[in-house]
Amino acid sequence: MKILVINSGSSSIKYKLFEMPQESLLTKGALEHIGEKDALVPNHHAGLKTILSKVNSVQAVGHRVVHGAEKFNKPVVVNQNVINGIKKCCAIAPLHNPANLAGIMACQKLLPGVKQVAVFDTAFHQSIPPKAFIYGLPYIYYKNLGVRRYGFHGTSHQYVAIEASRILKKPLSKLKLITCHLGNGCSITAIDKGKSIDTSMGFTPLEGLVMGTRCGDLDPALITHLMHKVKLDTKQMNLILNKESGLKGISGLSNDMRILEAKANTGNKRASLAIDIFVYRIRKYIGAYLAVLGGIDALIFTAGIGEHQAKIRKEICKKLFFCLGKSPKIMVIPTNEELMIARQTYKLISTPRL
Ligand code: ADP
Repeated sequence: MKILVINSGSSSIKYKLFEMPQESLLTKGALEHIGEKDALVPNHHAGLKTILSKVNSVQAVGHRVVHGAEKFNKPVVVNQNVINGIKKCCAIAPLHNPANLAGIMACQKLLPGVKQVAVFDTAFHQSIPPKAFIYGLPYIYYKNLGVRRYGFHGTSHQYVAIEASRILKKPLSKLKLITCHLGNGCSITAIDKGKSIDTSMGFTPLEGLVMGTRCGDLDPALITHLMHKVKLDTKQMNLILNKESGLKGISGLSNDMRILEAKANTGNKRASLAIDIFVYRIRKYIGAYLAVLGGIDALIFTAGIGEHQAKIRKEICKKLFFCLGKSPKIMVIPTNEELMIARQTYKLISTPRL
């Protein structure tokens, strides 16, 4: 069965076509700068039309959807109810969900009768218990506004956990894992018996680790302090926290870890500082999750930095061996969110429903 996986972002659409259940990748590609000046395609509908002209015999489509809130704790076949649910989540994921939805709507029109499945980044983290997902805020904000930790990159954390279980030849039900997804966005997850029990990203993907351009954890009082001092409105503040902070903000150079490593090697102090802060924050989280899990069987690194930058991994692990105890494995596992989406899509549509 040919399954097309679509990752529809605000200005790009990435796609991969798989033959399932063999899991062979038939083709892949991406369209960028959608809707921008001089772009090849003006909108998502036109973008998907272009993509669909390059692939044929698509029998099902799996869509990455960033936010499923508490409504979606597993992949679902898209129908009007699901579309309404994803629309509702747009309020808490205004940068991502509208673009994901645009991809779904375009496919519905262009591939009538072909089953579409929505796979949510947040779903894997729906097993996190209240003590880890409720913030120290008035409870009414959780009840009335859905303010809580949701966590993201769930598809990636779940994929590498399954891979670890396969490589270690041990069922997930017998494993305690810490998974570090270190790309442009970075998050870390504590996984017990195959279930996420805590993760560093929160209500939005801004919380937790220091990332390429996102600040991660900071004192919440700083937001109002800075808005007042530097005279920033909410839009400007959001932009600084999401796009001008993290590795880029600290180094004043780049959000790209490869560039920072090269600069640090030639003696650039701010590049070294940015790397030190990045590594230190990850170590703090690993320490916290070791305490939460009571020891681990494996520490897993994935995504751009996690897969390719051995020096950063070495720095993170330097002092960890002492606390890790009974020789856990340190593993590098390339992530494959698209394959995970294809698997979940295949499983959902090929399972007969009663
Ligand atoms: P995204 O979150 O955008 O998918 P990636 O997983 O591609 O990000 O990770 C991007 C980060 O990984 C950058 O900081 C980049 O410098 C770093 N990196 C290091 N080596 C590589 C590589 N070979 N390919 C891609 N990114 C790499």
